[in-house]
Amino acid sequence: MSRLVVVSNRVADPTAVQSGGLAVAVGDALQDGNGIWFGWNGEINENAEKSGVNLERRGGVTLATLPLSQSEYDTYYLGYSNRALWPVFHYRLDLAEFDIQALEGYRSVNRRFAKSIAALIDPSDVVWIHDYHLIPLAAELRKLGAENRIGFFLHIPFPPPEIIAAVPDHGWLFDTLHAYDVVGFQTEQDLSNFNRYVEQSMASAGPVTHPFRNGTRKMLAKTYPIGIDVDSFITMAHTPKATERIQRLTRGEVRNHVIGVERLDYSKGLPDRFRSFRRFLEQYPDQRKKTVLMQIAPPTRGELAAYAEIRTELEQLSGAINGAFGDFDWTPVRYIHRSVPRDTLAALFRGSKVGLVTPLRDGMNLVAKEYVAAQEPDDPGVLILSRFAGAAADMEEALIVNPYDADEVAKALYNAVTMELDERLDRHGKLLARVRKNDIAAWRMAFMQDLRNPETQPPPDQTA
Ligand code: UDP
Repeated sequence: MSRLVVVSNRVADPTAVQSGGLAVAVGDALQDGNGIWFGWNGEINENAEKSGVNLERRGGVTLATLPLSQSEYDTYYLGYSNRALWPVFHYRLDLAEFDIQALEGYRSVNRRFAKSIAALIDPSDVVWIHDYHLIPLAAELRKLGAENRIGFFLHIPFPPPEIIAAVPDHGWLFDTLHAYDVVGFQTEQDLSNFNRYVEQSMASAGPVTHPFRNGTRKMLAKTYPIGIDVDSFITMAHTPKATERIQRLTRGEVRNHVIGVERLDYSKGLPDRFRSFRRFLEQYPDQRKKTVLMQIAPPTRGELAAYAEIRTELEQLSGAINGAFGDFDWTPVRYIHRSVPRDTLAALFRGSKVGLVTPLRDGMNLVAKEYVAAQEPDDPGVLILSRFAGAAADMEEALIVNPYDADEVAKALYNAVTMELDERLDRHGKLLARVRKNDIAAWRMAFMQDLRNPETQPPPDQTA
């Protein structure tokens, strides 16, 4: 079988115990095909633009990494990927900043990655590129003569064309997607936004069908909802150490622990969540002292102003709730601004009666799936999930809420903490079955099958 070459902005160690699902899934896919994982090594180095690729074997996988220069980091990573594309793709034009130098840096890092990859690959290798940092990479590889099968998976949402219209030079950016053989999205909503964008940009007479022909190339756009490694998460949640942690968490208390876990990112809706929790305490006074919100929100991209602002806002909100409602024997909000290892999270999920997952916009949201996996099957907790998370598309037995509506979220919290066992069992059983069916292995296999198999594309006469 041909080798697989995975490319992502950052390369993770597939053998590290704490690696997330993506690292594990990609690691498995690479081991199947004796593969290479290519990307940034996380270092900033003044000679980066001249330095070569470092090759290292790790658990059956070759890691091929390179550093970025300070100016590449500022333009490609912070400037274009995270100040422009991240907010736009999360429907936040108000936070997007467009800067021609940032765009130039983005283009030039994609060109540099392409040159290094072209020197590493054979014509029979299959290339799988991940996420918004690297959209034009296949087009750059094609310019260098690569005729390999190349796929792209977008981990974050794809916004409606009316939002994309505000991005300077968006025609250039999204045209480069046509250099791929397979383009994967998380949800039908994302795919439909993409199809509408293609229809509008090509002034197409009718709806686009896939595989889509553009000039001499054909591209299959499809949904591949990402999942988790269910059994390993269940195992992590049920170790003796996890059980001990839960006992310490709930020591002597009959309280309902509500848990939220996400990077401190404006897309995750944390200030709205704190306001909803406050509304819950105001509207259901009998639940005060019985309920605690534990919010874990590790720092992320702290160099960007929008992230510093949300940090201040959250500190004020949690302080105000604790000041107004707290008592000698009860702190309503426990807010932890640190990263927590996944095995500790698994225990916290298992020990919490409610999982509160209310992003304003999210590609999928793995925490929702991890919360379901960690529950005791005979006494499960309740998941409250934003309708704007990709995960909501196949987790309808969660309490689905509009995260902007504090009253609705407060009511869902009340329903969750008072829900009878029969209903909790019914909802959890259905959710867990779906989380299992659409797990990380299913995601990887579905994508790889389409990417490796040119037969998924019909003969030319069907699409011409
Ligand atoms: N996570 C973690 N420690 C933390 C916070 C999060 O290990 O302190 C993990 C979490 O268990 C999940 C992932 O990070 O596997 C977050 O994935 P998700 O899709 O929910 O959000 P993203 O950060 O990718 O937007």
